[in-house]
This record gives sequence, C-alpha cells and structure tokens, in this order.
Amino acid sequence: PPPAADADHSPLVVIGAGPGGYTAAFRAADLGREVTLIDPRATLGGVCLNVGCIPSKSLLHIAKVIDEAEAARDHGLGFAAPEIDLGKIRAFKDGVVGRLTSGLEGLARRRKVRVIRGTARFTGPNRLSIDTEAGPQSLGFDQAIIAVGSEPVRLPFLPEDPRIIDSTGSLALAEVPTRMLVIGGGIIGLEMAQIYHALGAGIEIVEATGQIIPGADKDVVAPLTRRLREKGIVIHTDTRVTAVTAGARLEARFTGPKGDFSDSYDRILVAVGRRPNGDRIGAEQAGIAVSPQGFLAVDTQMRTSQPHIFAIGDVVGQPMLAHKATHEAKVAAEAACGETVAFEAACIPSVAYTDPEIAWVGLTEAQAKQDGIRVGKASFPWMASGRALSMGRGEGLTKLLFDPDSGRVLGGAITGANAGDLIAEVALAIEMRADAHDIALTIHPHPTLSETVAFAAEAHLGTLTDL
Ligand code: FAD
Repeated sequence: PPPAADADHSPLVVIGAGPGGYTAAFRAADLGREVTLIDPRATLGGVCLNVGCIPSKSLLHIAKVIDEAEAARDHGLGFAAPEIDLGKIRAFKDGVVGRLTSGLEGLARRRKVRVIRGTARFTGPNRLSIDTEAGPQSLGFDQAIIAVGSEPVRLPFLPEDPRIIDSTGSLALAEVPTRMLVIGGGIIGLEMAQIYHALGAGIEIVEATGQIIPGADKDVVAPLTRRLREKGIVIHTDTRVTAVTAGARLEARFTGPKGDFSDSYDRILVAVGRRPNGDRIGAEQAGIAVSPQGFLAVDTQMRTSQPHIFAIGDVVGQPMLAHKATHEAKVAAEAACGETVAFEAACIPSVAYTDPEIAWVGLTEAQAKQDGIRVGKASFPWMASGRALSMGRGEGLTKLLFDPDSGRVLGGAITGANAGDLIAEVALAIEMRADAHDIALTIHPHPTLSETVAFAAEAHLGTLTDL
C-alpha cells in the first residue's frame, strides 16, 4: 500500500480546487486514497463556483426575470418598472455561491480530504513548495493531479484603471454603469452584457471575428444577434479595439469595416478569452512539458509526460468548460488509483446562457465544410412549436446534422429558451451513436420544447407532418 499522509508527505495531491480538482480529490478519496487538496482561495470550487458558472447564472436569472416581466406587457400583463436593489441582488448571488462552496467543504470533510490553503509550485518530480499564510511548506507526493485552471486574458495595450474590469470584476456588480463597452463577443462577454443591460446599462459589444459566439453555428447565432439588437445592444463585428485612454471617461478607438472610429464609456469589460495557468506551477522542475500558450499535454488517461502526474480541466485545453473538467477529473482519479479508464467522450456540449440560449454539440456545419465531411442537415423552426409560441418565444431553432449514409447524428445546434437543457438529448444521441430514427421514434412529451429535437429528426426522414 502507498505510504500514509503525514505533514510533509501525501500519497496523492490535487493542485487546484475547481470543478476538476475537487471532483478528482473526492473520487480518489472514494476509491480509498488519502488525498491532499491545495488551493489559495478561501473557499473551494475554483473559478466555476466562486467567480464563474454559478454567480453568472444567478445574475442571469435576475436578468431573465426583468426581461420576462417586460415581455409580458405584449401578452396583456403590465408590471411597474423594476426596483433594483443591487445590495440584495449581490446577496442573492453570494448566497447561492456560499451554499455550494460550503457544501463542498462538507463533502471534503466527510471524505477526510486534507485541504491546504496555499499556492503550490513543483520543486521536483515528487515535491511541491506551497505558499501558505503561515509561510512556505514543503510537501512530497507519490502522485499529483494538476487542476490549476485558467485566468482572464489581459489586453496589453489597455491602461491600468479600476473602470476596466474582467469577468470577476463584473460579477462583483459594484454598480450599473450608464454605458459599458464589452470587448469580446464570446459566451462570457455576452452573458455579462445581458446582465448589465437588464439592470439598465447601455451596452456596446465589439467582436474581432465575423459573428458573436464564434464557434457556434451561424444559423443559431442569428436569432440571438437579432434579439440583442432589438433590445438596443450595439454589436460591432469584424471590429477591434486598438487603444483606450483613461480620462474623465474611457475613450476607446476602434478599427473595423466602417473604418476607424472612437467613442467613450464609463466602464469597459474585457472578455477576450482565458489563458491556462500551466506555466505558473514550476512544471519544468517536475519535468512536465508546457506549451507556449501554457497548456499541459496529456494522454487519454490525463497523464502528463510524467506518468505519475496527471492534469485536467482548463489547463489541458479547450473547451474550457466545467463539465469537461469534471469528466477528466474522474478519469485522472480512477487512473491514479489503478483503474483501466480513458477520456473518450464523443462530444462536449457548449452553452451560452444568453437570452435566447445558444447550445451546440458535436460537428458544426462550418467544421464539416472545412473538413470536407458530407452531412445531411435538418432544422425545425420554433415558430411551429406550440410550446415555444405559448411562451412567446417563436424565434428559436433546432438544427441537427446527420451522416448521410448511416443517418447517425453527428451534431446539433439549438437556440431558444432552455437550449442548454435540450442539447443534452443530442449529446446522448451522439454518444449512443443514435440515428434519426432513434430520435424520431422516441416519443417526446407534448407540448414541450424537447419535441423540436424529434421534429428535426423527422424533418430529416421526411416524416414530419406538422410543417
Ligand atoms: P478552475 O475552476 O479555474 O480552478 C482552478 C483553481 O486552481 C482555482 O481555484 C485557483 O485558485 C487554483 N490554483 C491556481 N494555481 C494554483 C496553484 N499554483 N496552486 C494551488 N492552486 C492553484 N463553464 C461552464 O461549463 N459553464 C458555465 O456556465 C461557465 N460559466 C463561466 C462564467 C465565467 C464568468 C467564467 C470566468 C467561466 C465560466 N465557465 C463556465 C468556465 C469554468 O469556470 C471553467 O471551465 C472551470 O472552472 C474549469 O475548472 P478547472 O477545475 O479546470 O479550474
């Protein structure tokens, strides 16, 4: 049996307590290992629980309530203008985060996972130095799982100014600016834009590529772009910010299809992506290769170039998503405990929790075109869904891609209310190698939005009777 943990030795250390790290620690403990989990944050949960998925979804819920109350006017139900109490909204968000992070503390205690608050660096292939409040601590280990995640990319040309914030700053919700520029039209930028807009801020989004949410199918992005513009959110695509000067206001200069122009804002939110933390852990001391971008290379068991050191989550590559991290975590923990496992997910779904939501999984049409893959495609517009119309949300679209020979589902993209929940069926179909008949012949409850997935499959088979 491996040596037991003592003050300066742990059979298994997990570095970073985000969704990857805490999942790996708990799984390994459940398999009987003595585990030490290291993270400098006061609470467990990493980016996702503390400053990512969970606080953003709590604030998006508030935004949704405001938007729905406004939209209800068209259906004969008028409400007074919302009274916005930022303190209470922050308390709601912090309460949700607090419940989840303290729940994790309990789960760690129950499993006897030792938690060390500190920042770890490798000093050798089997030793870490940990910076703690009480000073540096040295810890030897037999095996390690690296789950140190990522942090927001900074734009080097932006001045240091408290009015220029990243996702963490925007989730703090210190105030609602009159006019905010969001640099980056990806998932995080759009979710925060939607929150601040609902709370009363004027929003402009600048995106360097040709569409917001680059990477998602353009057909499902179009209804979101339309809706954001209808709400008065200004979107500049194919446009870059070239400089910002901080004076009484923040003056931004842009270059794009309309030529060069400039404008001024009260706040700028920078959401141009996240960079992995792989180059900040002394990986070279442990003999682990780090890519120039800071990613750690791993095999299908999540082992780095050192077979006793594993890496998972944002630090090993795209997509930087919590559910990818937790699945990789289980593989790493089980492999570290000697089980025969591998990360062999056929697909990883992505979701923008915007309004409407955008969700996609598997092959996209653009990718198929780029790789020369022949696909059959079928779409079901939500204008023909009784449930969507009853909710006043006919703008949605469900689109599926099929292998033209076998009929197997290769990919799916959905826009509309709860698209993030609906995409799970498509992910299961891809994992199970289901074909259009499997989906179409599965009886979906009526009237639900889930029917739109079945209807898209029926459209592909030519058996749809409703359109
Ligand atoms: P992280 O969650 O980044 O955790 C890494 C931890 O490691 C951190 O706590 C850090 O303090 C610690 N650490 C770093 N260096 C060291 C060190 N040297 N020693 C010890 N500890 C260290 N994903 C989704 O799937 N759905 C969403 O809705 C979603 N929304 C998001 C919204 C926002 C605003 C942001 C910023 C991200 C969002 N994400 C979302 C992405 C998601 O948060 C990440 O993919 C996920 O947290 C990655 O998990 P991880 O375990 O790899 O690392």
